[in-house]
Amino acid sequence: MALIVQKFGGTSVKDAERINNVANIVTAVYREGNDVVVVVSAQGDTTDDLTEKAQEINPKASKREVDVLLSAGEQISAALLSMAIEKMGYPVVSLLGWQAGFETTSDHGNARIKRVNADRIRKELDQHRIVVVAGFQGVNRYGDITTIGRGGSDTSAVAIAATMHADLCQIYTDVDGVYTADPRKIPGAVKLPSISYDEMLELATLGAQVLHNRSVEMAKKYNIELEVLSSLTGERGTIVKETSSVEKMLITGVAKDDNIARISIIGVPDKPGLAFKIFSKLASKGINVDIILQSIGRNGTKDISFTVEKNKLEEALEQLQSYEETWGASGVVSDDNVTKVSVVGAGMESHPGVAAEMFEALYSRNVNIQMIATSEIKISVLVNKADGERAVEAIHDKFFANYN
Ligand code: ADP
Ligand code: ASP
Ligand code: MG
Repeated sequence: MALIVQKFGGTSVKDAERINNVANIVTAVYREGNDVVVVVSAQGDTTDDLTEKAQEINPKASKREVDVLLSAGEQISAALLSMAIEKMGYPVVSLLGWQAGFETTSDHGNARIKRVNADRIRKELDQHRIVVVAGFQGVNRYGDITTIGRGGSDTSAVAIAATMHADLCQIYTDVDGVYTADPRKIPGAVKLPSISYDEMLELATLGAQVLHNRSVEMAKKYNIELEVLSSLTGERGTIVKETSSVEKMLITGVAKDDNIARISIIGVPDKPGLAFKIFSKLASKGINVDIILQSIGRNGTKDISFTVEKNKLEEALEQLQSYEETWGASGVVSDDNVTKVSVVGAGMESHPGVAAEMFEALYSRNVNIQMIATSEIKISVLVNKADGERAVEAIHDKFFANYN
């Protein structure tokens, strides 16, 4: 007998037919004598729809109330799936985040899971019930409902798997594994039999939404193997684990992130301390800065450009504009018509020349590069949004044309 955690995403529970399909998958595993904890996301586009409803009523609604609203999406799926399982004659109980013991920080909309107190889940499993948990949510120290960030149900599932030392953690979604690029956008994308935590973490952070990046971080920390697979095909998926079995693959994948904007501070005096002041100002507001580019000083001034998440652009500009005069900069400009395209691969560490090949691919399709950032296992470029798809295609063709 094993403890198995299964997570089903929004498309997998989008209507009655799909919920019944999930109930079949879950009960089949239970019938084999396993303990099963199921984590569900909100149905289809429910989270987006609820966000829109909030906007209609009050665009400046408090984050606390938004969380109360959004958490309802997962509550609905958990109850409906439990009803489907009940109908099949199996013992089942649905639990909301707080009932399942999810204690989080108070950062509404992007709370961190501090701890999962799994006593209740364990008690229910001891009663031989299938436990269905509403993903994406928890409760803070004041007893208020929190949500843990878009795409966060993956992280809810991994948190349970880590806390309860599950034997298997399966992430069921609408594609049958992790591919070398988004298979819905790049027809030539290839399914990976396995991928390392580090590479998956980079891909997820750089825009491959197939897994919530924090779920990969947590899986790595607690050494939980994940399987990403389809709730429809029944085929084996992709295993995310410490080391990929695909040896020495130079490049593992290409990702694109549209949720990004560029800010440039023009004509900053060329003297020590300014980068510190600018970025600490942003950090104090919890605004993450990504690619940073600083020009060589000329005539006593320099320009500093960097990227932030698109939804933090306004807040960042507000912060910067109020300080512009103090810093002596001549202006702040921004552009949210940009996209970040990245290649990821552990193999590039020991292979010079990947950057040149990537840039050649972009040149061959006439894509202009605005900014570049590299680390040991990734290279990212910022390009015009209109060039984004073409850039991914070009890079994917370059590195994967002869794969298979
Ligand atoms: P779920 O609702 O099940 O959580 P998501 O929509 O969050 O599903 O994630 C699955 C989607 O991720 C796929 O439909 C696919 O379009 C997208 N995706 C992006 N990059 C990749 C990739 N490299 N491999 C697989 N899927 C990817
Ligand atoms: N329903 C939430 C979202 O759409 C969480 C998730 O799907 O993982 O972001
Ligand atoms: Mg998801």
